[in-house]
Amino acid sequence: MIKFENVSKSYPDGTHAVKSLNLEIKEGEFFVIIGPSGCGKTTSLKMINRLVELTTGTIYIDGKRISEYNIHELRWNIGYVLQQIALFPHMTIEENIATVPELRKWKREKIQKRAVNLLEMVGLEPEKYRGRKPKELSGGQQQRIGVIRALAADPQIILMDEPFSALDPISREKLQDDILDLQKRIKKTIVFVTHDIQEAVKLGDRICVMQAGEIVQVGTPGDILQNP
Ligand code: ADP
Ligand code: ADP
Repeated sequence: MIKFENVSKSYPDGTHAVKSLNLEIKEGEFFVIIGPSGCGKTTSLKMINRLVELTTGTIYIDGKRISEYNIHELRWNIGYVLQQIALFPHMTIEENIATVPELRKWKREKIQKRAVNLLEMVGLEPEKYRGRKPKELSGGQQQRIGVIRALAADPQIILMDEPFSALDPISREKLQDDILDLQKRIKKTIVFVTHDIQEAVKLGDRICVMQAGEIVQVGTPGDILQNP
């Protein structure tokens, strides 16, 4: 589904953020990238949706080089959730959820139905939330909206960059449970960046451990815990 072939990234200042990465992420897999700050996790993630361009190597999605996709199609097909809550403050929750489906020219009724379904899936009552603005919601609720906004246009892939690390421990656990639940139902390919081993073990089908721009280990949570 997603394949990295000898992928490296050097930033213009000479930082070798990622060094010759080889990696295959399977369809429907919950794939976690873990490692200390600065090891190249975010860079690896952002290369998948071309927010960062590769220096060398190739990334394939469904066997096609990402450079051959139309950039809009590529990004529509890849949901992206960040650590910082990134909802549009002047828009209602429903308008926030509708942004990408509208770009894809989905019909209004289809978008509304989708928004209601997604809100229900993460335990938010549609009637109560649709018309509200982000600032009327708690951090955990906003981040939940961030997650379902990334899912709204039914992308194949979801990239998540430490999406829960700004939350209090209780909201974080709740959202981890929600995302596992969602993953079981919607079967998307998720690439999830964290520096928290407990989170990685809880969520990941497989975990990739990075250090200084390189992969040091890839395996199931069991493999990783047995050979730390
Ligand atoms: P992580 O997500 O694991 O914290 P990053 O991918 O953000 O790691 O960063 C990897 C390395 O690349 C770090 O040394 C970081 O400072 C550097 N880096 C990240 N983005 C840039 C950039 N835009 N310009 C220069 N260096 C960068
Ligand atoms: P993360 O939480 O992923 O580690 P950072 O706080 O390291 O993110 O970086 C935040 C933003 O700053 C990112 O967009 C990253 O690309 C950029 N960045 C990180 N390190 C550098 C750097 N040394 N020079 C320029 N930009 C950087």
